[in-house]
Amino acid sequence: MRTLVRGGMVVTEAGTVSGNILIKDGRILGITEAQDADAVIDAAGKIVMPGAVDIHTHMDLDVGIARVIDDFYSGTAAAACGGTTTIVDHLAFGPKGCSPWHQIREYHRLADGNAAVDYGFHGVLQHVNDEALDDMAAIAREEGITSFKAYMTYDGRLEDLDLMKVLERAAREHILIAVHCENHGIVTYYRERFVREGKTQTRWHPASRPAEAEAEAVNRLLYLARAAGEAPVYIVHLSTHSGLEEVRRARAAGQIRFGVETCPQYLLLDEKMYDDPKEGLKAVMAPPLRRQADREALWEALAGNELDTVATDHCPFTFAEQKQLGAQDFTKCPSGAPGVEERLILLYSEGVRKGRITLPQLVKYACTNPARVAGIYPKKGTIAAGSDADLVILDPDREWTMTTGRLHGNADYTCYEGMKIQGAVEQVLLRGRTIVRDGVFTGARGDGQYLHRGISSLA
Ligand code: MN
Repeated sequence: MRTLVRGGMVVTEAGTVSGNILIKDGRILGITEAQDADAVIDAAGKIVMPGAVDIHTHMDLDVGIARVIDDFYSGTAAAACGGTTTIVDHLAFGPKGCSPWHQIREYHRLADGNAAVDYGFHGVLQHVNDEALDDMAAIAREEGITSFKAYMTYDGRLEDLDLMKVLERAAREHILIAVHCENHGIVTYYRERFVREGKTQTRWHPASRPAEAEAEAVNRLLYLARAAGEAPVYIVHLSTHSGLEEVRRARAAGQIRFGVETCPQYLLLDEKMYDDPKEGLKAVMAPPLRRQADREALWEALAGNELDTVATDHCPFTFAEQKQLGAQDFTKCPSGAPGVEERLILLYSEGVRKGRITLPQLVKYACTNPARVAGIYPKKGTIAAGSDADLVILDPDREWTMTTGRLHGNADYTCYEGMKIQGAVEQVLLRGRTIVRDGVFTGARGDGQYLHRGISSLA
């Protein structure tokens, strides 16, 4: 059966063209002059873009004190409603000392048969020895899990010596190492000190994880990667102007084998949200929301093509119960916020419509580059002959107000409550099948396929 998406403004990272997209057997045949097919989807007056790719989510994450409220079904159904047809999820830490295989098996159990959009996993490194490094290489080959995450803070953090071992091996095996960059000493010093001094209201959260903690860790990671032989690294959730300056320094010095991600919350929200001790719990996350100047610097970096991707770090806890664990002490609040459904339309409404980025840049940051970084391009992330027919049809004229009741995830809040939105995701196709129509999820549990990924464009 041939399906035609007719009359839309087709957007790729290369530009916009008005044309019809012909689909057969779940794949794109091409952009065509043809007017007829077995089925026609009328996209006149609409924007048609590739299904968005979110390479930083935490579905079903168990952090010990709480488990996120979205599992692989509810989280990916919400993703679909927001125009995201592929996720690459970051695994939780497993039991202390477990093999990297442990969490791969656990996440297949959680996601297989449940996900509503296509999905892959980043592996996680929580200790380093010869066996763990051999396992990393085997997992990359056998599972197509070609990226692994390492943390520079938290209990599962890797110290510099272990990071060097990981990076050296990753460089040889063409495995991308995604890194949470915060200096553990700085963060721990302030958290301990603020608790001791009774400074446990949310307004102390950003000061407990200052910009210096991020910038120092970004700087150190980039030097470690160079010292390990230009190892390929990916900086997740960059949040500060200071961190961005370290990225610029490395690029100016000729370092190219790395990528940088930011997230909508660091572009659109700021630390004033923590002034209200109750509302502030909603945005307790790491890194924290920053200052207005940081937001502006990150938008300028996007406009100037200095960053690679915008992902979400979707990590939803309930405000009514789980976030209240931090009501008396922000250091006890489970860290994270929802965002997988909001990302694409926020970037469109606040980015494209307000002139901060162009429409092709939106596609680049939300679709194409994430697919490249994840090693799934051009199957995902673009509109081209042979690519999966993952498409978003966006109505540029619809205006609405962001509110929890209109979103589809299990979280009982959104950080963007009350925001006026220009444009709406109207229809979403996953491999040629409509999984969202008129903003309503019409897909099913288990529609999503596991992605055996290729080598990252950065690696
Ligand atoms: Mn994360």
